[in-house]
Amino acid sequence: MAYAYDDQNIFAKILRGEIPNSTVLETDHTLAFNDIQPQAPVHVLVIPKGAYVNHDHFAAEASDAEIADYTRAIGQVCQMVSVTPGAGDGGYRLISNAGDAGVQEVPHLHVHVLGGRVLGRMLEKAD
Ligand code: AMP
Repeated sequence: MAYAYDDQNIFAKILRGEIPNSTVLETDHTLAFNDIQPQAPVHVLVIPKGAYVNHDHFAAEASDAEIADYTRAIGQVCQMVSVTPGAGDGGYRLISNAGDAGVQEVPHLHVHVLGGRVLGRMLEKAD
């Protein structure tokens, strides 16, 4: 499958330093920053530095080093912002929206790290 990546998306601009961000963590292959419109007391976005549109693109084409770095960075962020179960606020939710059905707004892979309160059920019941 061919994945089309739009390098004018807002996260690409953040990675190029064209738009500021509130950085939580930066590693070799990953950047984590606070969401500009937080939906919970903790709302951090974790993105790979590479040009990947969503998770299945990343899983198919990223190097093992990128995948390891990204996966570990997400866990590190959870610890840094004190949402790991048993510590601080006691739990978190990871969300990665993809495509139209997933209601993805920014076409650069990102995981939302949400926490700091009880988050409620995962989805509203619907058809
Ligand atoms: P999604 O709907 O999964 O694509 O989520 C995109 C997220 O990016 C939303 O939660 C936005 O609030 C967030 N966002 C958009 N622009 C920025 C920005 N400049 N800095 C930080 N977060 C942003």
